[in-house]
Amino acid sequence: MTGVAERLASVRRRIEAAARQAGRDPAAIALVAVSKSVEPARIREAFAAGQRIFGENRVQELVAKAEELAELAAPGEHGAAGGPIEWHMVGHLQRNKVRHVVRHVAMLHSLDSLRLAEELDRQLQKLGRRLDVLVEVNTSGEPTKFGVAPEEAPALVKACSRFDTLRLVGLMTIGPNTSHTGAIRRAFRTLRELRDRLRDEGLAGPEFVHLSMGMSGDFEVAVEEGATLVRIGTAIFGPRSG
Ligand SMILES: *Cc1c(COP(=O)(O)O)cnc(C)c1O
Repeated sequence: MTGVAERLASVRRRIEAAARQAGRDPAAIALVAVSKSVEPARIREAFAAGQRIFGENRVQELVAKAEELAELAAPGEHGAAGGPIEWHMVGHLQRNKVRHVVRHVAMLHSLDSLRLAEELDRQLQKLGRRLDVLVEVNTSGEPTKFGVAPEEAPALVKACSRFDTLRLVGLMTIGPNTSHTGAIRRAFRTLRELRDRLRDEGLAGPEFVHLSMGMSGDFEVAVEEGATLVRIGTAIFGPRSG
């Protein structure tokens, strides 16, 4: 099997090519390496190859890895690529786990209820810090997916704007589970139009810029439709066992 560094390089090239194809600046797209079920040793490999943002979807696993790899988060000399490691929570977050995860994460991609926002606010106040958050939107209507319906997003964004601890920086979605590119593109476009509308209507501020969309099977379409964060696991680390 090819190594993590080569796979990373290949994914970065594909992101760049998709961006250029769409007339976008490749630098406007950040790669979140989704490292769920991946051993810390291989996360170190990716870090050594310059990758800085890692996404996890389970609190326990995220906390364990963040602690094991704590020295990568310390400020200081981190080699040519510079900068410490950054953890993003990309999976569904339960309220009773918030207190475990908030100290470790730089961004939460999956805010989906006011009650979760309230708990985040409570725990962040204790730490005296703010957190970048994305509102997760179910753009495909698939019942197995988390996230608010597109028509519910404005109310949630508006309600969350009262929390000084939460920096609402955009939206996240998971593409529909289909090989039909048209349906995938429609879902991503829905997310972009929603972000633009929330900004135009003044419900969200100027920092509401991000679109977290695109995974191993559909990230090129997502980049074409305006993704600023792509969340990629399999294409970097190989298939997950189990
Ligand atoms: C697993 C996961 C990904 C990455 O999926 P791949 O298909 O392995 O690239 C992205 N986003 C979320 C929320 C995930 O759970």
